[in-house]
Amino acid sequence: MRDKVKRNVLLNPGPSTTTDTVKYAQVVPDICPREKEFQGIMKPMRDDLVRIVHGDTDEYTAVLFCGSGTICIDVALNSLLDEGKKALVINNGSYSQRAVDVCHYYGMPVIDLKQPLTTQPDLNLIEKTLKENPDIGYVYVTYHETGTGLLNPVREIGALAHKYGKFLVSDTTSAYAMIPINVYEDNIDFCMASAQKGIQAMTGLSFIVGRREIIEQSAHFPKRSYYCNLYMQYDFFEKTGEMHFTPPVQTIYAARQGLKEYFEEGEKAKWERHQRIMKAIRKGIDELGFREALGRDVQSGLVSAICYPDDDNWDFEKVHDYCYKRGFTIYPGKMQGQGTFRLCALGAIDEQDIENFWKAFSEALEYYNIKTPVQYKE
Ligand SMILES: *Cc1c(COP(=O)(O)O)cnc(C)c1O
Repeated sequence: MRDKVKRNVLLNPGPSTTTDTVKYAQVVPDICPREKEFQGIMKPMRDDLVRIVHGDTDEYTAVLFCGSGTICIDVALNSLLDEGKKALVINNGSYSQRAVDVCHYYGMPVIDLKQPLTTQPDLNLIEKTLKENPDIGYVYVTYHETGTGLLNPVREIGALAHKYGKFLVSDTTSAYAMIPINVYEDNIDFCMASAQKGIQAMTGLSFIVGRREIIEQSAHFPKRSYYCNLYMQYDFFEKTGEMHFTPPVQTIYAARQGLKEYFEEGEKAKWERHQRIMKAIRKGIDELGFREALGRDVQSGLVSAICYPDDDNWDFEKVHDYCYKRGFTIYPGKMQGQGTFRLCALGAIDEQDIENFWKAFSEALEYYNIKTPVQYKE
């Protein structure tokens, strides 16, 4: 048995709390990743990543990249747009704004369909946009906008994309391996995630799961990046079983362990655990009188964006530091013009951790003379 590592409860939206078995999975004998032994890890890992979203591995494949989750946004957007086509981005949060920014950096034509941040997007407007712009190549939507906790109606948006002969790319980074996803039922052609979120492993490994047929077509699409090209990485994997450039070796061992633990826990039980955690988060929110930026009916159930109270003594940094010293990490919000902080139900934690967190948090409020139940002006 190895020593236990000090356990921190991370309530930020990833990287998330990991198990010690995942942490220690990184401590392995040095190995050159070009060895067959290492390839023997990556092939089943790619298949497992497809299985998580219920894809058939003949139709869908997983392509691994060394980088944080944003690398997948970059790769998918820049690699999958054919000559003469436009990207359609449903923009209702900071992550879809990031996708629009990526398109701008590459000088790619993009329809930036801005939608409200706190309610679901207008499907009629999406359909109208598809109807009026036959030169759209793909529709891009963030599955779960992690900045606010908004869940997008991906299945419906995917159905619209397909109705007009387009494919759907979804940034599922903060939902994958948490909210059950089925690429067929959810009309998803491409999705993506990063090892530090749903599979509860380490940062530095990210992956796109998508349709082989479209990836193969994309061999003839304009090449906008050398390092961040989907077809190039896919093709190299298919031919050699390896990543094109040096993989994050130890991170891959941790991801293998994370996947093992994912399948042991099971899709359903894991999603139930995340919901149990969110229930405990909401209980504390309600007891302390906090308000959330979004209605619960449109939330993913994985992130809560909580409005700062109107109290002169409220100071997010101080409350954060108080909790941090006691092993709990809370995170600032990502909503412009509105003071919010976030509590997230990701990672290898459970409801008891949240109960302990609320104790520490309540002590912090008392320590800094912040009135409870918390006050709002209107
Ligand atoms: C975490 C996250 C990403 C990736 O962010 P990185 O900081 O690059 O790891 C991308 N999209 C969404 C929706 C996320 O929640």
